[in-house]
Amino acid sequence: MYEIAIRMTRRNHNAFVHLLAALEKQGFDLGEILITKDIRKIMNARPKVVLYSFFTEEIWEVKDEVKVLKEAFNPLLIAGGYHATAMPKHTLNILGFDIAVIGEGEEAVYSLLKTLKRTQFKTGRELLNIIGLAFYLGWKFVFTGFARVEDFWRFPPYPEGLKLIAPIEISRGCPFGCYYCQTPYMKGFRMRHRPIDQIVKYSRRMKDMRYITPNAFAYGSPGAILKLKKLEALLKALQPLRKEGRRLYYGTFPSEVRPEFVLPETLELLIDYADNRRLAIGAQSGDNAMLKTMHRIHKVEHVQRAVEYMLEYGFEPVVDFIVGLPGETEESQKRSIELMKWIMQKGGKVRAHYFMPLPGTPWARCKPSPLSDEMKKFLGRMAAKGKIEGSWGNQIFLSRKLQRLIEEFYEEPMSYTGWINSAC
Ligand code: SF4
Repeated sequence: MYEIAIRMTRRNHNAFVHLLAALEKQGFDLGEILITKDIRKIMNARPKVVLYSFFTEEIWEVKDEVKVLKEAFNPLLIAGGYHATAMPKHTLNILGFDIAVIGEGEEAVYSLLKTLKRTQFKTGRELLNIIGLAFYLGWKFVFTGFARVEDFWRFPPYPEGLKLIAPIEISRGCPFGCYYCQTPYMKGFRMRHRPIDQIVKYSRRMKDMRYITPNAFAYGSPGAILKLKKLEALLKALQPLRKEGRRLYYGTFPSEVRPEFVLPETLELLIDYADNRRLAIGAQSGDNAMLKTMHRIHKVEHVQRAVEYMLEYGFEPVVDFIVGLPGETEESQKRSIELMKWIMQKGGKVRAHYFMPLPGTPWARCKPSPLSDEMKKFLGRMAAKGKIEGSWGNQIFLSRKLQRLIEEFYEEPMSYTGWINSAC
């Protein structure tokens, strides 16, 4: 009989694989945990505790599921992930969770599960000693502090005792602080990296070697500068695994690279040491004023230079844009259209996303700008021809839901840095 269950989904799979590895490393017996993507198995097992991890975009489905579990056998419900960190009161009061884990969960969840086992799964003052939790003590909302795991590589990426794999998180944190992005506020502004030998050791488990990082070319660096030797050392160290038949995908799904890091030197490394001939970069806008407003740091020229280098070296550029950005004018949108056209004419791919206000970011309370007729027509035409990928259509609907959520339930978010400058 299981007392603890993990509600895995396609979207939280990677996060839970890493968390399970951290629990195991700290001595938790994973045999005690029911790990499943099938909610019916949780319903049948009726555990004392169920762990969730989710993004704000998923809260509506999560809320329905929580209601079903509560009515069926009322387990203790624990939430982690971006939404729980940015909106803990909403997570507890509205979604119906009992405990929200705030920040990086590796140590907090371990201490929480150990304590709950000791207290027969009763919550109380014992939880006050665990950093990284929000919950109610009686009627009082308690926040025990933001959980930071600076040296996250103390925990391996995969549990030894389970056959679970996921792309390995090789780097954590990002110094750029783009105003729409949750990463720096959740993971910190300084980039930290797993050591090469650990990455090599665990990459053996993958057939296609893929990695999670905010900027794959910044491996080994505090984040804003290129450390070519460190990047090369990592890629070189993975070559014996390629020789054994594994393929190395670097700077592409599920990660990407910053445009100003796309240089002859970095592309040459990929040609020598990686298998992908597609590379993903974020442009986000074709307007320099807009890039400045959103704190992207790079300019349009960096995007153009990156695309040209990629094509010269035989890579297919995949370039992300966000449309409907706060403060975006018709003129800014025109410039984005021009850049998108230029990329497509050159042979690159464009992926368009609609602006979504995410809790825990400086732009959480900002409204999207309306799309100009020209932008709507352009995106529609290009999508019909299969020239633009991305789901901006569904995201318009989701963005409205997020705006309503934030208007109604806005909370000053818990953050890695302790503060967030609202920028609109
Ligand atoms: S969008 Fe990318 S570069 Fe900007 S803060 Fe997020 S992870 Fe960093």
